[in-house]
Amino acid sequence: MPSLFSKIVSGEIPAVKIYEDDHTLAFLDIAPASRGHTLVIPKDEYADLYAMPPELLADVSTTVQKVALALRDTLAPDGMNIVQNNGSAAGQTVFHYHVHVIPRWEGDGVFGAWRTQQPGQDELRALAEQLRAIL
Ligand code: 5GP
Repeated sequence: MPSLFSKIVSGEIPAVKIYEDDHTLAFLDIAPASRGHTLVIPKDEYADLYAMPPELLADVSTTVQKVALALRDTLAPDGMNIVQNNGSAAGQTVFHYHVHVIPRWEGDGVFGAWRTQQPGQDELRALAEQLRAIL
């Protein structure tokens, strides 16, 4: 069964589209965190970052930059967040890879600073060793 966003790609569900090319589509979020909040997706359906072919990630990133530049030039925000959620624990609700482009204004309160941890150097080094072994 096609995802909600595949139905937007096919036109079965309407969306306010702002850009498309052969592989990607950008449309305004229906419940924006701020004015101009846009979603960029691959037209083909992949659930999340882990499933994305690297070439398609590059295509999506190129479109994200185009959209960010257009939002910057149109709305003159103070900043821009690029957000991408994977898995429900990370806030993903639509399981078709997508990147949020969210214009920000000073004091808008859209996101706060996240809580931080204080790992020791030994812990950081041990984790890095595990990761380097895979990478
Ligand atoms: P996620 O939480 O999965 O990272 O983000 C999903 C996003 O899709 C949310 O920001 C939500 O507002 C947006 N969204 C959900 N349904 C629709 C829809 O039918 N149309 C549009 N344009 N955006 C949607």
